[in-house]
Parts: sequence; structure tokens; C-alpha cells
Amino acid sequence: MNLILIAPPAAGKGTQSKILEKVYGLAHISTGDLLREASSLDDDLSIKLREILASGQLVNDEIVLELLKRRILQEDCNNGYILDGFPRNVEQAMKYEEILAEVNRKNDFIIVLDVEKEILLQRITGRRICKNCGSIYNVNIESSKPKSDMICDNCGGTLYQREDDNEQSFIKRYDEYLVKTKPLVDYYSKEGNLYHIDANQSRDDITSQIKLILETR
Ligand code: AMP
Repeated sequence: MNLILIAPPAAGKGTQSKILEKVYGLAHISTGDLLREASSLDDDLSIKLREILASGQLVNDEIVLELLKRRILQEDCNNGYILDGFPRNVEQAMKYEEILAEVNRKNDFIIVLDVEKEILLQRITGRRICKNCGSIYNVNIESSKPKSDMICDNCGGTLYQREDDNEQSFIKRYDEYLVKTKPLVDYYSKEGNLYHIDANQSRDDITSQIKLILETR
């Protein structure tokens, strides 16, 4: 099963991907994570990437497609995967179709998480991530707070705040979403496997709705 999650920043793509990864044994592919990893290396590309990521703009399609292609060919993707943050525009979606044809795979589900802008801003400024296992918390939401400040409940690792999780980057990222990513909803709606979820709700309610779609459609 291959799944694409389309949503604005901090809508819960990463959180839901981590849950679905465990429940269905799918690989979780976050192009944001792949790019953050590439940006932490020490080469010419990493300096450029750090600037783009901090600004909230999208990274060049060629770089993203290269990273994605390498990732989906890894063995843990054989059972299927969740795409979190890819495609981000129609050009990437078109190129991805060529890649899918090459590797003989298809898109099974496209899930769109709809969330209001004010809720996203509250989520983004409170988001904390574990450096060690990637678990995601939110200090602005009672039910998603870690038990101890800045310590991961799951593995005891240290939590950090992403450099682009601030109001200024959010405004740019949200704008990029509306202009470049949201048109994908129209692009994919012709296929008959696109589902909208009201993601203004709790994490568990969102998961239940996604599971319902994956298991009954
Ligand atoms: P995310 O972790 O999905 O919130 O992505 C963080 C940042 O990585 C974005 O603001 C973009 O700068 C970059 N990024 C992630 N995925 C893509 C993509 N598919 N295409 C272009 N840029 C991306």
C-alpha cells in the first residue's frame, strides 16, 4: 500500500505517518527529514539547503526527486510507504508518476488533512521533536505534551524545536502550501482515491478516520 499525505505545515502529517508506519508496517518517507539530513552534512549543497529550509521556501525539484528516488528503492519500502511532504507541487507529482511507472507501483490512497490556519500556528510554535527517535510532541496541547520538559517519553532522548517552526517561516510555508501544494488536490481528485479529513480534531480521532478509509475503501 502506497499512501500520500497532503497537508499544510504542522497539520499532523509526521505524527500520523509515525502511527501508520507502526500499524501497517509501512515505511515513512518524509522529504523534509531527508532534506534536513542532507543539510546537516558538510558540503556546498548543505549550506544552500540550510538557507532554503530556514526561509520556508521549497527546495528545487531536482534535488528532492533525486533523494526521493533513492529512498523508495530501499528494501523497507517493498511493503509500501507513506509519503509525508511529497509531492509538494504538480511538477513533482508528474515526475513521480514517471518514477512509479519505472518501479511498477501505483498510488493507492491520497489523504488530505484540512486544518485551519490559526490552529496550525498554535501547533507549529509548540512542536518539539525527539533528536533520537523522532517522536513528536506539542507543548501547546495538553494531550500531546511530554511528561518531563524537553525529554522524550518514548526513549528518554532530548527534544528540540525545528529552526523553521517559528511564525515568520510558518507564514512563508503556509503561503507555499496554498500556492504550490494545494493545487495537487485538484490534480489527484480525478483518480477517485483522494479523501479529505477534518484534521482540526485530536490526533487519535484523525488516526481513526484515516484507518477507516484505509481499511474500508
Ligand atoms: P516539512 O518537514 O515537510 O515541513 O518540510 C520542511 C521544509 O523542507 C519545507 O519547508 C521545504 O523547504 C522542504 N521540503 C520538504 N519537502 C519538500 C518537497 N517535496 N519539495 C520541496 N521542498 C521540500
